[in-house]
Amino acid sequence: MDDVFREILERLPGFNCGACGHDRCDEFAEALIEGRAAIEDCPYLKSERFKDVAEEIRELLEKAEIEAVERPVGIIDGLEADFVLSPLPGEPSCREDIHPLTGTTNVEEGEIVRYRPLGCPITHFAEVLKADGGLLTVHIVGPLHRIEGEGEYEDFKDVGLCFVVAFEGIVEEGRVPDVGETVRFIPEGCMMGKVHTGVVVEAVGNKVRIEYIDLKVWEHATGRKVA
Ligand code: SF4
Repeated sequence: MDDVFREILERLPGFNCGACGHDRCDEFAEALIEGRAAIEDCPYLKSERFKDVAEEIRELLEKAEIEAVERPVGIIDGLEADFVLSPLPGEPSCREDIHPLTGTTNVEEGEIVRYRPLGCPITHFAEVLKADGGLLTVHIVGPLHRIEGEGEYEDFKDVGLCFVVAFEGIVEEGRVPDVGETVRFIPEGCMMGKVHTGVVVEAVGNKVRIEYIDLKVWEHATGRKVA
């Protein structure tokens, strides 16, 4: 493996700039070998100048039977994300904390709510796990069967437009971000396959809580520095 490490390191740009999320190129080479980084995490390897080098590194990894990490890409926006956020074990969807902008507070645990997340065109249905004043912790359970007026849930409360405050789930593939990192992620099951951004406020093992959710994806919204 030392040879693979050396050969990859020889090919990396050598700028030691940290834009890949690792302080130096040798740390990045190590992360590639350990399956903790994707080749594209080094922004230079995506440029025309280093296109052949990126291909050579991909071949070196393949030859060493190391599976290269692939970054997920949003369906609707075609943007690259850092990871897919999966539900906690045994749960149907990632947990979401939502805040109804209508000020609705008459919602209780176990009830189904209908809402539209701010910035998302799709009406959601969700089961309330916890109701704490104006903050609801929910699991997504629809929309399709509810729009048809059929299905398991007959009653629901319409809480209108909601600000999505947080997501909680697990990072099954790739590097688990550190607390304080700004990340791009795709919540598993997101009906638009849309890249979301947010700030990691808790990371225990591979379980993370991400707050300050935004559907606008800014260039700087990533744990990796912009080169
Ligand atoms: S972004 Fe590329 S050049 Fe910069 S430290 Fe990482 S591997 Fe090296």
